[in-house]
Amino acid sequence: MTSAPDTAGRDQEPLTLRDFAAMPAGVLRGVGPKKTDALAQLGIESVLDLITHYPRRYVDRTREALVSELQPGEQATVVVKVEQVTTRRTKRGQAMTTVRCVDGRGTSLGVTFFGQAWRERQLPPGSLVVVYGKLDVFRGARQMTSPIVDLIGDRTGRIVPIYPQSDKAGLSTWEIGDLVEEALRRAESRRGFADPLPAQIRQRLELAGRGEALRAIHAPESMAAMQLARRRLAFDELLRVQLALVQRKRQLEHAAQGIAHQTSGPLLEAFLGGLPFPLTGAQQRVIEEIAVDLARPLPMHRLLQGDVGAGKTLVAVATLVMAVQGGHQGALMAPTEVLAEQHGVGVRRLVAELTVPDPASLLGERPLRVELLTHRTGSAERRRILGALAEGGVDLLVGTHALIQEGVEFARLGAVVIDEQHRFGVEQRAALRDRNRDGVVPDVLVMTATPIPRTAAMTVYGDLDVSVLDELPPGRTPIDTVWARDVVEEAEAWATVRDQVAEGRQAYVVTPLVEDSDKLEVSSAEATFARLGEEELAGLRLGLLHGRLASSEKDAVMEAFRRGELDVLVATTVIEVGVDVPNATVMVILDADRFGIAQLHQLRGRVGRGRHRSTCFLVAHLEDPEGAQAVAGERLTALVRSTDGFELAEVDLDLRGEGTLMGERQKGRNDLKLASLRRDRELVAVARQVALELVDDRGTLQAHPLLDDEVRTVLGEADTDFLLKS
Ligand code: ADP
Ligand code: MG
Repeated sequence: MTSAPDTAGRDQEPLTLRDFAAMPAGVLRGVGPKKTDALAQLGIESVLDLITHYPRRYVDRTREALVSELQPGEQATVVVKVEQVTTRRTKRGQAMTTVRCVDGRGTSLGVTFFGQAWRERQLPPGSLVVVYGKLDVFRGARQMTSPIVDLIGDRTGRIVPIYPQSDKAGLSTWEIGDLVEEALRRAESRRGFADPLPAQIRQRLELAGRGEALRAIHAPESMAAMQLARRRLAFDELLRVQLALVQRKRQLEHAAQGIAHQTSGPLLEAFLGGLPFPLTGAQQRVIEEIAVDLARPLPMHRLLQGDVGAGKTLVAVATLVMAVQGGHQGALMAPTEVLAEQHGVGVRRLVAELTVPDPASLLGERPLRVELLTHRTGSAERRRILGALAEGGVDLLVGTHALIQEGVEFARLGAVVIDEQHRFGVEQRAALRDRNRDGVVPDVLVMTATPIPRTAAMTVYGDLDVSVLDELPPGRTPIDTVWARDVVEEAEAWATVRDQVAEGRQAYVVTPLVEDSDKLEVSSAEATFARLGEEELAGLRLGLLHGRLASSEKDAVMEAFRRGELDVLVATTVIEVGVDVPNATVMVILDADRFGIAQLHQLRGRVGRGRHRSTCFLVAHLEDPEGAQAVAGERLTALVRSTDGFELAEVDLDLRGEGTLMGERQKGRNDLKLASLRRDRELVAVARQVALELVDDRGTLQAHPLLDDEVRTVLGEADTDFLLKS
């Protein structure tokens, strides 16, 4: 660990972000107590806060429109001067403020606000303002209602920055602009700006210099110059986040004692050779990535993203087999008992022919032993399994999360695969370490079927390495997806269910999602179940599954469906994860507009698992598909268009923004002022790469003290923890 550089004796050096952070805004000319307060209201306390208070947008005065050139209905930005402001009450008693303005050619424009009497104070006659809105023509007069208005003072530059401001704070955009300008000018005329990025990386990425970028983001010569500046500063933000994450990742690796597994050998060959099908290219690539990690003496922390049906189980078992090959044990954890049992069956089938060396036996070998441990395991059985586990007689243990918790002790746990777990936190890692008496940390692979865009994963799961299974095994029949928009189209869905059942197939019906109320959701599911049984699906054998059933009841229903004793399973989203009944070919999702893209995609993944062609109906009668429900409509359209989970994840990110990935609190503290995980995908990947280059094996930035200092200044230790945890 380096400590913060000593500031004494380097007061001729260029200024770092830490230096700027140490200067209160009050050092600037003209900033007295009153302005200090006003700035504080905008969250600006130091000069660093000020120079990173970036313009919200820019007005390019070389391209500004004239009022007389605008067509009615057109959205545009115009620069006008206020001539007169009046406020009167409407008949309903609301304040109506009318601002009469003229543009540079003398064409007048009326601007109207309702219920915003404070506009009178904001817009005194004579002020120059930028107005962005839609032009209407009312009784022959040009006007805009409730446009966005920014005062620009007497700024003369060609491109005028508009700063985020608050009317309460009483600071105008040009006052902020003047302060920024002064801060930058003073810094430049004395010590200049430190650029912490190694010059050779800056050149390779063709990034602007730090000082140049700061200048151009606040006072660009052209919009192109502003874009270049933005790219540099956004990169810096993303790099700081990645540096923090990569440092943490390497420190964890460095501190822990891992296992250098023997990744090639007869066991793996026998396993791969015994598969009834060739690996997909993606499986081959990912198993190779994992083998490299396993062979290193550091514990692996890898995330495997793969769509439903991409063949993650096989990758998981290959990982565990590699651990067993070197004489270690493996564990596979699933989130639910049903899934654990399903995995138990699948894993046993995959390793059925394998044997491991056993000096104690006559033949010198014994079958590879797989055991299943869940809460349902009887106590005698449990004792037997735990005994064998501690002695090393069990090679692979499959079960729920409880595997690594309750007094379960392995002889030599070498690798753990965790299925469908979104977050694998620091505590679980500690729990894993405790599984082995000697404190050796097993390698960990986390699998998820809810893909998020790769670059987002680099931040959200930033201390993990990410592998992607982006290829489905051949021979799948694609699922047809239909958006049933009205009652007629919905009737088709029910007809399809009846037809398919008549042919011996089965169907799922997912009942409306009721947010925040389990109880209402259950009653809605019960009502749907009753109605379908009497009307649309009368005569078919229906089963009902929801979260409030006792687990024995749930099992009974699932078993009956699996055995084909039920035709249709009516269920809440409890069937979302992992349920596998290849004979089911129809999925009907009611009120599909209430579900998110990822959830719909998961639900749809319950069909299309066998050799029969499957259909998914998204039932959503939208009342306002162009307006209020436009986003819901886009989600449904995306699902109809694509069955690719990664493509859908990209659409989801576009529609919902990155808040959904990081969580609001986390987002507020992650220092991404300019950068966006959504718009700057390419830069995220570049920043990750650069961070991997700059952080050393021990997880420090010792060779790059300026960057080290900057990460600490801007993110702080607490925030780094935050990035990793939530
Ligand atoms: P996931 O867990 O990723 O949803 P699974 O591991 O359950 O997917 O695999 C889905 C199905 O695909 C299984 O029936 C599995 O046997 C089959 N499968 C896996 N890999 C291949 C492959 N390379 N070729 C053909 N089928 C495969
Ligand atoms: Mg799976």
